[in-house]
Amino acid sequence: MTHSSVFHRDLASDLPVVVSGDGNYLIDDQGRRYLDACGGAAVSCLGHDNVKVREAIKSQVDQLAFAHTGSFTNKPAEDLASFLVDRAPKGTGAGRVMYLGSGSEAMEAALKLARQYCVEKGEPERHKIIARKPSYHGNTLGALATGGHAGRRAPFAPLLIEVNHIDAPYPYRMQHDGENETDFGYRMADLLDAEIARLGGETVMAFVAEPVVGASLGTQPAPKGYWARVREICDKHGVLLIADEVMSGMGRTGTTYALEQEGIAADITTMAKGLGAGFQPIAAVLAAEKVVNVIKDGSGKLWNGHTYMSHAIATAGALAVQHVIEEDNLLDNVIKRGAQLESGLREAFKDHPHVGDIRGRGLFWTIEMVENRDTKAPFDPAQGVAMQIGAAAKARGVMTYPSQGCIDGKNGDHVLLAPSYTSTEAEIDLIVETLKAAVS
Ligand code: PLP
Repeated sequence: MTHSSVFHRDLASDLPVVVSGDGNYLIDDQGRRYLDACGGAAVSCLGHDNVKVREAIKSQVDQLAFAHTGSFTNKPAEDLASFLVDRAPKGTGAGRVMYLGSGSEAMEAALKLARQYCVEKGEPERHKIIARKPSYHGNTLGALATGGHAGRRAPFAPLLIEVNHIDAPYPYRMQHDGENETDFGYRMADLLDAEIARLGGETVMAFVAEPVVGASLGTQPAPKGYWARVREICDKHGVLLIADEVMSGMGRTGTTYALEQEGIAADITTMAKGLGAGFQPIAAVLAAEKVVNVIKDGSGKLWNGHTYMSHAIATAGALAVQHVIEEDNLLDNVIKRGAQLESGLREAFKDHPHVGDIRGRGLFWTIEMVENRDTKAPFDPAQGVAMQIGAAAKARGVMTYPSQGCIDGKNGDHVLLAPSYTSTEAEIDLIVETLKAAVS
């Protein structure tokens, strides 16, 4: 689980063989049904058998699969770009979109785009990156270097580009007694100001962060005031703001982009999971007008390309996903079912001695397990508590996303939930009941 992987075929042989989907359930070759309460890593936001998406993909297969992107564009790619730009946070302006095959590739492309912007703007000395710890930005070398998970980075350390990490806000463990949320938000944002000053403002290219943290910390929204202050600091120093919305984007937190709720826009935004909802492997980078204009006035070309960018089937599938989310008013359901999930979790675990924190937004929630609720001491990582909970829930037919130990192995165990936007009231109740049983 958790962004680890398996070699097919031998090492994968103890995993169930999944053969079909039925609404929000997965079915294996033994006929066992699993309610998907996490969508993999927050991917399957429309469940597993959406008819409209399937039909859109089939129809595109019948028309055109692929044509070289250096020589052609295609209608689904253009329509999806318009859709994404039209719904971008206010302040993005007349943005433009680039397509990639995965969140990691999108993060690589975002970093390269930031560098191109600096060079074409006449500021080639800007190359330094500031990101946060903990965080997860992907598994390719640039994205891995940007991520702030010491354990994941360690084996590859000699291969990684230099990235400077500041702390991400983690109220459960970092907010001081008596400190209000906004003061905490400002204090955490000011770490960025201090880091830019330390590095030399004119050499810093970009600040990279997830608007709502996902895989590394369990779902963690930022405190009030944080993002507005971050935006101000970036502007003051001419540093680009890259928002990694790979997990938080496309409605997961109740708005298309999580940053919409913060009243600011990023200069470069990445998105992936809920873009294709698992029906197609697709990611995108959205560049704000400010970035686009420098490139238009400069070389006029992107310094980045991959063979399968703008793939017609992938973009048609993603466009269909976005249309379903909008036409079926699924963001309303995200908010409604999200509130049900939050109150269900708070009720189920209010007195539990080992559930230290419950946090999230929209349909994106986490419980954090601790050995001692009073001292917040985590469990010994060797016990693998989160993984045991994930396994116990799976045995009861509900898929969750457990992870552990992302601040140098010291902050314990999380179980993340990211149910489908189409979840019913009964399914959310079942998720809470099953998690309660699994935790016990
Ligand atoms: N960024 C974030 C916030 C993610 O959660 C992930 C994957 O979980 C990635 C980037 C990398 O995406 P992918 O696994 O598609 O390469």
